[in-house]
Amino acid sequence: MKTLIENPLIVTMNDSNDVVDKGAIVIDGNRIAYAGPAERVPAGPFDMVIDAGRMIAMPGMVNAHCHSAANLVRGMMPSKPLEIWRAYYRASLRDMREDDFYASALLGGMEMLKNGATTVLDHFAGSAACKFMGAGAAIRAMRDLGLRHVAALTVTDKNYEDTIPLGQTDVSLNDELKRMSASEAKSTRAWLDECEEFVATFHAPDKLTTACPGPSAVQRCTDELLTGCADIARKSNLPLHIHLAETKAQQVQGNSLYGHSLLRHLDSLGMVGANLSCAHSIWIEDDDVELFAQRGATPVHNPASNLRIGSGLAKVKEFLAAGVNVALGTDGAASNDNQNMFDAARLVSLIHNHAGSDFNQWVSPAQALAMATRNGARTFGLDAGMIAVGKLADIVLLRRDSAAYRPLNDVVNQIVFCENGSNVDTVLVNGEVVVAGGRLTKIDEMEVLQIAEAARAHLEPSMQKELAAARSMEPALAEMYFRVFGKDR
Ligand SMILES: [Zn+2]
Repeated sequence: MKTLIENPLIVTMNDSNDVVDKGAIVIDGNRIAYAGPAERVPAGPFDMVIDAGRMIAMPGMVNAHCHSAANLVRGMMPSKPLEIWRAYYRASLRDMREDDFYASALLGGMEMLKNGATTVLDHFAGSAACKFMGAGAAIRAMRDLGLRHVAALTVTDKNYEDTIPLGQTDVSLNDELKRMSASEAKSTRAWLDECEEFVATFHAPDKLTTACPGPSAVQRCTDELLTGCADIARKSNLPLHIHLAETKAQQVQGNSLYGHSLLRHLDSLGMVGANLSCAHSIWIEDDDVELFAQRGATPVHNPASNLRIGSGLAKVKEFLAAGVNVALGTDGAASNDNQNMFDAARLVSLIHNHAGSDFNQWVSPAQALAMATRNGARTFGLDAGMIAVGKLADIVLLRRDSAAYRPLNDVVNQIVFCENGSNVDTVLVNGEVVVAGGRLTKIDEMEVLQIAEAARAHLEPSMQKELAAARSMEPALAEMYFRVFGKDR
């Protein structure tokens, strides 16, 4: 199958951020065979020609961190610090089963595709009652949509109470803590076996799936589990994804467990390399920035989530100054609550500007768009994230005849500052058109909404019960939070 995209303005997002006016893109199978000026386009015949004379072509974005199970509870979770928020979020997952995980992933995946993301890293955590916690259903949903995905199976083998600096645990908390642990933790060996089987079952790049281990967080895993996951990734040349230092309580816990930073600990286990991506990476030490740079590892910045649950401001300017490959994510819909990468790109280009800081280091729109595209592809070992010969044909076409791009002064700045997803016209993933005229092509959008609505409705009784139980934990968790930060901040 050969496709010609005729006459677009091409925002290549190659390493020199080249923009080509009156360009042409030829796709042969699932790869880009030509990208450059229209007058030099190779001769056809073509099986399909897309008239893009009034379009902007950009690489599909890579959402480098989210949780597909969270889409049914968007707008529902309290704006409270992670340790409290997480008790509620975990409670909402407890009675979800395969069909619910399918519905949730379908809803979020639809939103991502329609807003210009063509790859998502799904740090999948579901229910221990399901095989692979239900991740197989999420993978099925993303394949049905035609959305490329890196499915990182979340594993943890420590009891919940050992993963946060709770101090003297209130006895009234014990039952809830046990339930939290039971819904997540398994033995180390059981998790490693499941992880290996998960990769063997689902890893299939030709079906758009990269399957890999995703240890939940450094302090939530034993060293044996962490190194076992790293071995699985190394053996099959896969990415490795983990949460790192999202909150100050995690930094405190890391220092007390290991005597140095969480990232240093991973490095002492030989795990920090180019295949490692670390969601958040906020409460790190200054020399951790250098460590990221030296090892070629990637912090994944999730600006909306960090603001929504008050986690803190990641050292994005310091990362960029040190030459670190920073990727960008939405995080799950329980802490964002949209799954829109244009929103993430706009936020990262705004929230790091503040008076008194060196304005030469403020995040530029081009840097923000690189984070949203090629940087994410690089960390997941995907030959994508830019419009260039040989790259995977993951391409987004934006309508130029809209307020966002008229007058067209600076296309990159306008994509980052003015686009909200409403001008997405066509999306190709792996050379296939999966959004046309702004609508999904492979699945009926109304059906996606109905499936999601039905799943949420049948979960309502158990969700209310579980959320009430989570509420009983809040005072003790709040006490911990104020112990870590001091109350008058
Ligand atoms: Zn996360």
